[in-house]
Amino acid sequence: MRVDRIPQNIRDLIIPKPSGFYQYRCLGCNSVHPIDSLLYVCPECGGVLLIEDREWDRLKKVPGDVWRDVFDYRSMLNETAVRGIYRFHELLGSIIPLKYVVYLGEGHTPVVHANRALCDWAGISFSFKNDGQNPSASFKDRGMASAFSYLNYLTGEKGLKNVIALCASTGDTSASAALYASYFANEVRSAVLLPRGRVTPQQLSQPLGNGATVIELPGVFDDCMKVVEYLSEHYPVALMNSKNAWRILGQESYSFEIAQQFEYDTGNLVVVVPIGNAGNITAVLSGFLKLYDLGIITELPVIAGVQSEHANPVYLYYLESDPRRRVFRPVKVRPSVAQAAMIGNPVSMPRVIELVERYRDTAGRADAFMVVEVSEQEIMDSMLTANRNGHIACTQGGECLAGLKRLVLEGRISKNMHGVLDATAHSLKFSVFQEKYFTDSFEPEYEVVPREELKNAPLTLEPPPDIPSPASNKQLSDEEFRKFVQYAAEEIARILNLQ
Ligand SMILES: *Cc1c(COP(=O)(O)O)cnc(C)c1O
Ligand SMILES: [Zn+2]
Repeated sequence: MRVDRIPQNIRDLIIPKPSGFYQYRCLGCNSVHPIDSLLYVCPECGGVLLIEDREWDRLKKVPGDVWRDVFDYRSMLNETAVRGIYRFHELLGSIIPLKYVVYLGEGHTPVVHANRALCDWAGISFSFKNDGQNPSASFKDRGMASAFSYLNYLTGEKGLKNVIALCASTGDTSASAALYASYFANEVRSAVLLPRGRVTPQQLSQPLGNGATVIELPGVFDDCMKVVEYLSEHYPVALMNSKNAWRILGQESYSFEIAQQFEYDTGNLVVVVPIGNAGNITAVLSGFLKLYDLGIITELPVIAGVQSEHANPVYLYYLESDPRRRVFRPVKVRPSVAQAAMIGNPVSMPRVIELVERYRDTAGRADAFMVVEVSEQEIMDSMLTANRNGHIACTQGGECLAGLKRLVLEGRISKNMHGVLDATAHSLKFSVFQEKYFTDSFEPEYEVVPREELKNAPLTLEPPPDIPSPASNKQLSDEEFRKFVQYAAEEIARILNLQ
């Protein structure tokens, strides 16, 4: 659609111009720092940072319903810069001129309503939002589009040169960072640090294919993260982990899209998100708070974080209901099928603590945010059940479904609500866990016992010696080939019980 076909009253707003005054704010000591430097922790106290817009209140001059129209009409434009997360430019990166926006097809992911049978199974109606349909097949692309657009802006306007993009990863961050870095070809080099043996072959193939330097380290993600932090403190590298506050901004687009896809009617929703390093839950909380503050939505949804019993520090933290008595303790993780969330010491925990408090205060009730814990068995069974009903959920998507089911079972949410589950990556990235389930080859630490009715395996047709086989080296005659086809077809008809 062309801009001249947009309604007159919003035409001035439709193509966003740079605006606002961004700064980093430290959650440790509350100091603020200028936005035009690559900053990942507070230079004064080492605390984690959030980005805020000092001129945020200017956006309130536009009524909420006008913003809704602006966002809705933007999704019809063919202007590349506003096709992805920057459709919400004013809310997540308004200082960046559109010419620096990097768009690789991220965002705008589908919401797919679960069928009747699956909703009955879960005890509640729900949809998956398929963030595995992003370019590198996980939600990480939202934050990466933001972090790389900002880098592009710094190199274009502020003279930043020789960028090395660096990250530690449970798989998907590295896939995403390598993809976006490769778009800049020789201008940006990328290096990724992975825990050896704790990344699926599909995830490993992604940064390799995009030409990144891939370094495998012993240990788990938390160990790799420490090495990356050391590097970013001592060398000039662009840190692409969600410690980088620009990642959080981009991932807020997930909330904005949910609001848009539900006609900004979010009061009845329970938005379910897996928690690993806790960047995504931070962004989802922050995103809905922004929409609410601008009157774009009038009711906050319930937000539920899910963790596996094998990596549950955030769950344990919120078990204590008295905020003054809560103490955060990192946990030692055990192997988890929700491997992308297998993190014992989430970098964004201070952000979660701050935003949960704000969220609960704004909603006026504690149960506007909750955390639920699920077993490895529940995660696998939920993922496989979802995918037998038309979905493409990864293990973390399965974790969301398991979490939703638990919340209903424990009576913590009303059955009249509607769940929106984050299918954070594409199922294909995590097919090794499906394979382990189907072949009953889980290592005992996972504590998963396959249920027969969810297993599946290919059947092989092996023609007996008297039936010619195309597998033999010799060319079959027409007559031999006809014999083979008839044999195979009759066998299949028998297997399928065809009459
Ligand atoms: C990174 C990731 C998570 C965890 O998100 P955090 O922001 O680290 O909490 C969950 N699922 C998938 C597929 C991921 O890649
Ligand atoms: Zn500080």
